[in-house]
Amino acid sequence: MKSFRKELWFNVPKRRAFINITPQVEECLRESGITEGLVLCNAMHITASVFINDDESGLHHDYEVWLEKLAPHEPVSQYRHNGYEDNADAHLKRQVMGREVVVAITEGKLDFGTWEQIFYGEFDGGRKKRVLVKIIGA
Ligand code: ZN
Repeated sequence: MKSFRKELWFNVPKRRAFINITPQVEECLRESGITEGLVLCNAMHITASVFINDDESGLHHDYEVWLEKLAPHEPVSQYRHNGYEDNADAHLKRQVMGREVVVAITEGKLDFGTWEQIFYGEFDGGRKKRVLVKIIGA
């Protein structure tokens, strides 16, 4: 069995964003030389997500509106997280959107369903953050 590990770095200038990281994960898969196995991709921060869905700008707008309804950023005084931190909403948004994805690798390709793409969801940007890509297989 082979294994491959790489960290992808992001520095999103805005507080929130959704970034399609499928090309970077595919590049990791090429680098790994693995053609049959599994890829795990997870955010290494508790205010960011990795998830799979459609690369469609209307949907991404809908996520933003929906997440702001569930856990509005303002007023930050509504939250108790650490007493003073202004990113409680980012922790809650991350919980809803998830920490990681696992994708099967078949014949050297990510074995996606129709329209599936991998996204990095940033909920407290303005600093460097990492995503782990771990690939195992043969
Ligand atoms: Zn926090």
